Amino acid sequence: MTDEKDSSNEKDNDRHKKRMQQQKAKVDERIAAAQEDKGLLLVLTGNGKGKSTAGFGTIARAVGHGLKAAVVQYVKGGWECGERNLLEKNGVEFHVMGTGFTWETQDKDTDIQAAQAAWEHSKKLLQDPSIDVILLDEITYMVTYKYIDLDEVLAALTARPKDQHVVITGRACHRSIIELADTVSEVRPVKHAFDNGIKAQKGIDW
Ligand code: ATP
Ligand code: MG
Repeated sequence: MTDEKDSSNEKDNDRHKKRMQQQKAKVDERIAAAQEDKGLLLVLTGNGKGKSTAGFGTIARAVGHGLKAAVVQYVKGGWECGERNLLEKNGVEFHVMGTGFTWETQDKDTDIQAAQAAWEHSKKLLQDPSIDVILLDEITYMVTYKYIDLDEVLAALTARPKDQHVVITGRACHRSIIELADTVSEVRPVKHAFDNGIKAQKGIDW
């Protein structure tokens, strides 16, 4: 390498180092400024794949730290779910809305009943300070269909124990829930295997 190239590399390196130091100082400042501890409301919404897996991932992360977690799945039918097999063994309580045979009738009244029962259970969890993290998987649809009352959901979320974290997943989350939330991520579909005729795969899709 020529001397000229050497010194230009050095300059590049110096500039890079300086930029990184400035960036680190800014990040450190923001970390130092973030002082508050509180239970978070997280929303994972959008049309792309990954909302429920991220929700369960958060539960796994919490359980890994010894926190107490509970899951309510607002899903139809006896949909098997790999995360349940794993997390139940690790002390996570599951409540699945659609396990009752009535759900299979596709009758609106029984759908509402099942949704209401799951919501009653969710409300108990939202009043229980011993539960550190709750996943309300696919609850957004219940609000959209008006199977459960939006104002009740907002009230229960607002009145929950101060340190309790809640994760909400599902497409088209109501804007009032998004406004109430602390952290909101929207998963955007770029492509999905299903569009190319590929079946849902065990361990990846369920
Ligand atoms: P996952 O459970 O895989 O994290 P999700 O919770 O983001 O997905 P849902 O809308 O709840 O998505 O749909 C659940 C199922 O539908 C999953 O099997 C998922 O792979 C599939 N799915 C999700 N998004 C799409 C999409 N854009 N096109 C086709 N199938 C999808
Ligand atoms: Mg989902």
